[in-house]
Amino acid sequence: MPEGDTLARTAAGLRPWLVGRPVLAARAGGLGAVPRVERVLGATVTAVESVGKNLVILFDNGLELRTHLRMHGSWHRYRPGERWRRPPARARFVLEVEGSVAVCFDAPVVELFEQRAQTLHPSLSALGPDLLAEGVDIDEAVRRLRAPARAAMPIGEALLDQRVLAGIGNEVKNEALWQAACSPWTPVGALDDATLSRLVELGRDILREGAATGRRPRHVYHRSGRPCPRCGSIVRMAHQGSDLPRQAYWCPGCQGTGPQG
Ligand SMILES: [Zn+2]
Repeated sequence: MPEGDTLARTAAGLRPWLVGRPVLAARAGGLGAVPRVERVLGATVTAVESVGKNLVILFDNGLELRTHLRMHGSWHRYRPGERWRRPPARARFVLEVEGSVAVCFDAPVVELFEQRAQTLHPSLSALGPDLLAEGVDIDEAVRRLRAPARAAMPIGEALLDQRVLAGIGNEVKNEALWQAACSPWTPVGALDDATLSRLVELGRDILREGAATGRRPRHVYHRSGRPCPRCGSIVRMAHQGSDLPRQAYWCPGCQGTGPQG
């Protein structure tokens, strides 16, 4: 599943093929296709960045393409004429420059807007600190976790809230909580500042490792029924959250209690 580190690697993979090149062709497809894509024709790509779990492409005419990949979206780069690895009908956005065709498949969110509107853009402006950004403000993420509305929220849900911090997905969340020996069901308000800082720092470090190596440490994720590598208790899994329940993997031996206390 795309988390912040996956997006950073995707951006790094596309950047050398796109940046500095004028757009020769652009097409949008799928439900809610981007209107008036011809606005990017002739514009030069100036940057390809990951912002949390968004992949953003900037153009020198002030336009910005934002894609959020959620569970199944991905960006591929092909040579002109090369056969695509997913059906063309699933392409949400296609960008052609000299020597390359960049295709975004299956992304639920694809938007093209003016950069100066970004501060007004509801989802990007609301994002918490991007954990993969240089010099990310850990204290700001902790301040956002401390918002009164989140005091009763289980930490396993709060860490996935991109308005608190941007980049952590379900796998990194589970690993950070295991490394900190913290139960996903502990309410945020019951954790001290040092623990919250540590969780945010662990999330950042796991994402950095993933961005650098393409691999993430995995001590409990997808390991339910198997012994905890730290204490030998059996790792468990339960669903957490009401809107979009996510799988929480944890060790009752060293992380503590589960959903029923
Ligand atoms: Zn354990």
